[in-house]
Amino acid sequence: MDIRVKEEYVRQALKLHQESPVVDAHLDLAGEVLLRNLAGEHDVVKNHYLAHFRTAGINLVLSSIYVENGSLDRAWDNALDQIKALKEDVAGMKEVLLIQSKADLEKALEENKIGIMIYMEGLDCIGEDIDRLDILYEMGVRGAALTWSRANALATGCCKASEHRQIFGALTEAGIRAVKKMEELSMFLDVSHLNDEGFEQLCRIAEKSFIATHSGSRRIYDNYRNLTDEQMNALAAQGGIMGMNGCVYIAGSFEGNHLEMLCRHIEYEVEKIGAKHVGYGFDLCDSYDFAKAALSGKRPEKRYDCLLNHGQIPLLSAALLQRGMGLEDVRCLIGENFINFFKKSL
Ligand SMILES: [Zn+2]
Repeated sequence: MDIRVKEEYVRQALKLHQESPVVDAHLDLAGEVLLRNLAGEHDVVKNHYLAHFRTAGINLVLSSIYVENGSLDRAWDNALDQIKALKEDVAGMKEVLLIQSKADLEKALEENKIGIMIYMEGLDCIGEDIDRLDILYEMGVRGAALTWSRANALATGCCKASEHRQIFGALTEAGIRAVKKMEELSMFLDVSHLNDEGFEQLCRIAEKSFIATHSGSRRIYDNYRNLTDEQMNALAAQGGIMGMNGCVYIAGSFEGNHLEMLCRHIEYEVEKIGAKHVGYGFDLCDSYDFAKAALSGKRPEKRYDCLLNHGQIPLLSAALLQRGMGLEDVRCLIGENFINFFKKSL
């Protein structure tokens, strides 16, 4: 049984979402736009996302560029196709601003626009060719995770996803060079899919703060995609933020108790490392999966998202308020924390 959120808290949360910055630090938006374009659809952000973004008062969405296993043989082209498709999709939208600088971010906040910042969920597409980071930067990419869950030329992720099995291995020499290069370029680093060994190594070599865009607490739900208490402490100590993931398999909400599980993760994280180091990074994938399935003539069997769409984000904030979290803590974690981080990283 999930939490029943009272109307008064929903009203309070909706108001907060309109008055304060709201950030979703992880969405496979570019990939979905490309999939839907291939199926003949256009204006994807406008038709599938805009209204929900507005309901939640979203000011910044991080669009990841995620290359599927099946496209790895043409990873570079696929990544560039995604970036191009997303830019074209939002080019005519006065409500949307691509974020490439601190000034862009400030403009999005002042003019109440939806900022979209592009970052790489894995750098398979560059292989060991670190100079390709310059090209990605030129194209507007402002951050990256070295790897998705799998292993690549730079690092090893946390699992073989299809077999639900943990994998091991440290950052490679090229991976260490990539970290240095990203820091030179002022691209932020995301550790959400990195394995424990890589995380520990990164703590030693990174000179700038890094974040986990879409990970929960491993104490609340034991999954290698979530952070241990030790990792949470290390992340916070170097100025990082963890974005709460809204996937059933990562939140561990298998009995339909989605809001309750999301609240339990967030409350634990706030108690452990403070509200300044917690955020939202929902990784809502159902819309992407529907687009992918439709393209191959199938229907996806299961929905993975804890929230129906972005319009439901205030309901989670309302649940946190109802369960006793302070208004100021909720205000920080719905967006201000990530905004402050990106103002610095940009
Ligand atoms: Zn991910």
